[in-house]
Amino acid sequence: MKVLKFGGTSVGSVENLKRVKEILISDTEKKVVVCSAMSGVTNQLVQLIEYVKLADSESITRSLHQLETKHSEVIDELITDENLKNSLKNDLSSMITDMFDIANQKYSELVDARIITSGETLLTHIFSGYLNAIGVSNVLLDAKEFMYVGSTENPNLKEVRKRIGEVLEDNETASIYITQGFVCRNHLGQISTLKRGGSDYTATIIGASIDATEVQIWTDIDGLHNNDPRHVDQTHPISHLTYNEAAELAYFGAKILHPQTVSPVVGRDIPILLKNTFDPQASGTVISNKTYEKGLKAISAKDGITAIKIKSNRMLMAHGYLRRIFEVFDTHHTSIDMITTSEIAISLTIDDVTNLDKIVKEIETYAEVTVEEDHSIICIVGESVINDKNSYRLFEILNYIPVRMVSYGGSNNNISILVDTKDKIETLQFLNKKLFQNKEAAVS
Ligand code: ASP
Ligand code: MG
Repeated sequence: MKVLKFGGTSVGSVENLKRVKEILISDTEKKVVVCSAMSGVTNQLVQLIEYVKLADSESITRSLHQLETKHSEVIDELITDENLKNSLKNDLSSMITDMFDIANQKYSELVDARIITSGETLLTHIFSGYLNAIGVSNVLLDAKEFMYVGSTENPNLKEVRKRIGEVLEDNETASIYITQGFVCRNHLGQISTLKRGGSDYTATIIGASIDATEVQIWTDIDGLHNNDPRHVDQTHPISHLTYNEAAELAYFGAKILHPQTVSPVVGRDIPILLKNTFDPQASGTVISNKTYEKGLKAISAKDGITAIKIKSNRMLMAHGYLRRIFEVFDTHHTSIDMITTSEIAISLTIDDVTNLDKIVKEIETYAEVTVEEDHSIICIVGESVINDKNSYRLFEILNYIPVRMVSYGGSNNNISILVDTKDKIETLQFLNKKLFQNKEAAVS
C-alpha cells in the first residue's frame, strides 16, 4: 500500500482536484490519500481564531459564511448529480453549524485545534463524495480516529499502527482511502495539530504505521531544488537525497517539506517521493536510505534566527561551564541549532524566542550576554560534503559578507554559516555561483 499526500495548491481548485483524481486512478495499487485544506483556508481559519479570542461574533459569522461559500462553489462546479450536490451541501452546512457552535465558545487550545483542523475535514468530505460519484470508489477515514500520536516530536507509531490497522481492516475491500492531514490527538487524547504544514508529517506517520511501500508528497514544484528558486536563478531539482540530507534541508528552511517529515520513515526503508501535481511525469526527488552521489547537493536558508553570545572570564579553563549554560536552555525548553566556542565566549543560535527573556536573565547573573536578532542560517548539505573538494570555495564568502558564525565538522553532511538576514539573498546567490555553477572549473 502507498501513501499519497496532496498539498493545499493541489486541492485548491476544481481544476486541480480533477488533476489529483487523474493521479489517483493512474495506478491501481491500494492507497491512503492524505489531503491538506484548500490553499488559503487554514490561514482564513487562523484569522477566525483571532475573532474567537475577541469573542467578535459578527466577524465569526462573516468568516464562516465565506468558508461555506468557498466550499459550496467547489461542490457546484465539481458535482453534476443534483441529489448528491444537495446532500453534500447539507453536510457542508451542518459542518459549518458545528464550527459556529465551537467558534462561539470561550477560546481554549482545544477550540483552536478544532477550528484550525476543519479545513481538511471540509475538503476531504467533498473530495471523497466527488470521487465516489464519478465511480472512483473510496472510503473516507476520519484521521481523528487513528492519529493518536501523543507527542508531535516523538509520535507514538505503535498506537497509530494499532488504530489505523483496525480502521483499515473494517474497510478491507476498499482500494482508495481518503483522509485528513494536519490533525492529530495529543497525549490527553484531545484534538491537536502537527503544526503548520504538518500534512507531510501525517503522510509519513501513516506510511510508517502501515509499512507502506512508499510515501508520495505531491506539491506544486518538481522536487527539492539545490537552492531556493525564489531567490536564485538556475536552480535544479535534485533527483536523489538521503534521509539525512533531506532532514537537514527541511529543518534548515527548504519550504517544500515539513521539518519532521522524514523522521518516521528513517530506518524503515520507505522511500519518500516528492512529486509535482502539475507535471506528474517529472521525476521529482526521491528520498531514501541509498546514497547515489556523495558531496555537495543543496543549499537552504532558515530565517528568524537569534544569535546569543555569552562571554565570561570565568569560563577560562573552567570545566562544567557549558553544562551550566545548556541546562538553562533545557529548563526553558529551548533547543539550540548552532554553536561555536572560544576560550572565553560561546555563541549559539535559537529560533524559538518564547523564553528568551528568562534565559538571558538567568545567564546574566554570571556572564555577559548579547542578543542579535534577524539572522539566517545558510546550510550547505550533502553526504560527506566536508570531503567534497569544491566545498572550500564556500569560504570565499568571507571576502564579501560578514559571517557571524561557522559550523564545520558537526556532521560530515552539513556545513552551516550564520549571516544577517539582510545579507541572505546575496549569500545564497554567491554560494550558488561558487559551488554549483563553477563546479567544473573548480575540479580542473
Ligand atoms: N493545512 C495545514 C496548513 O496550511 C496543514 C498543511 O497544509 O500541511 O498548515
Ligand atoms: Mg506543505
